[in-house]
Amino acid sequence: MINISEKDGNDAYCRYRMEKLEIGIAGKGRNKKTLILNMGKIAKALRTNPKYITKYFGLVLNAETGLDSETSSAYIKGNHDASNLAMILTKFIKMFIMCWVCDDAGGLRLKVSHDAVIGTCDACGNSIPVGQNDKLTKFIIKNPPKKRDRKSEEQVGAFGAFEERPNDDDDKWHTDTSAEATATRLKHATQSSGIMHGLGKGSTVDILRRLFDVEQTDIFELTHKVSRLTQDFDSRKRLNLIFGFIFDTSDSKQIISMIKKYSELLATFSTGKANGAIFTRCVEKMICDNELKLIARSPIFFQQLYENDILDEDQIMEWYGNRNSNPNIDAWMQKKIRANCLPFITWLEFADEEEESE
Ligand SMILES: [Zn+2]
Repeated sequence: MINISEKDGNDAYCRYRMEKLEIGIAGKGRNKKTLILNMGKIAKALRTNPKYITKYFGLVLNAETGLDSETSSAYIKGNHDASNLAMILTKFIKMFIMCWVCDDAGGLRLKVSHDAVIGTCDACGNSIPVGQNDKLTKFIIKNPPKKRDRKSEEQVGAFGAFEERPNDDDDKWHTDTSAEATATRLKHATQSSGIMHGLGKGSTVDILRRLFDVEQTDIFELTHKVSRLTQDFDSRKRLNLIFGFIFDTSDSKQIISMIKKYSELLATFSTGKANGAIFTRCVEKMICDNELKLIARSPIFFQQLYENDILDEDQIMEWYGNRNSNPNIDAWMQKKIRANCLPFITWLEFADEEEESE
């Protein structure tokens, strides 16, 4: 037995475990097939439809696949390496089984909605789009899972628990590479990438809030999740949301410690000239909205953003030089914040000169 989630390593006491792929070979020459003898058990452990896993192998390997419901085994045409198959299964698990918000490996409950596949996680309660832009998503949409009933699933076995479509051809799962099919797939991919809007903005914001509510130790992971959740967001809106979640604007010390803690995450959203301009304006807006508490501390905030590699000198000087550039803030306020920042700006210029003369 191995753990379903790679992250759980070799911990034998992990809750979610499955058998290793049991591989066999059948047939000869051109009819050679690689068998996955324990597909039924694996699908059951993953609490998903064996058809989805089998089809996924077929799509990745561009090979014909099929299921034998009597023996609960699957086949993939051709000779395939066991370690490669295990890697593909891991990819499938990451995409369609694991919750990418809370990393639970208990198996997402999949549902087709708005031309996309939504997975609901029983551990954290979030409903998230899965397999966006993946070919298998199209297959799941055509072959939607039946409502998961755990009791009957155990009685009938994983093979019987899913709806069969009369026109679904189990034996021939070729990847259609014609121009027409490609165009359809592309269209589909574009549509499902907009799924965050389909879910309603409120729910994405809720997921984000919960992400930040939980004590986060792995900022890299968090950054990845936030980027993914907000990929369709307007940059300014995204930053304002993130600032709202991490900064307590009534406490300048807290802001400084959060800049340090989330430096990796913040830096992700401040790279380049355009993002730098948006980032500096969002910082400016936050300070000006909480003028009494924060404005005197503004040079320290900018200094911390600089020291923690979130903003570079060019980005800060660009902001400083562009007075009256923030339509969301009164001109006199923009002047005031720059006046407050002067000690840091002078230091920054001086530090730069020193560096050049070295
Ligand atoms: Zn979850």
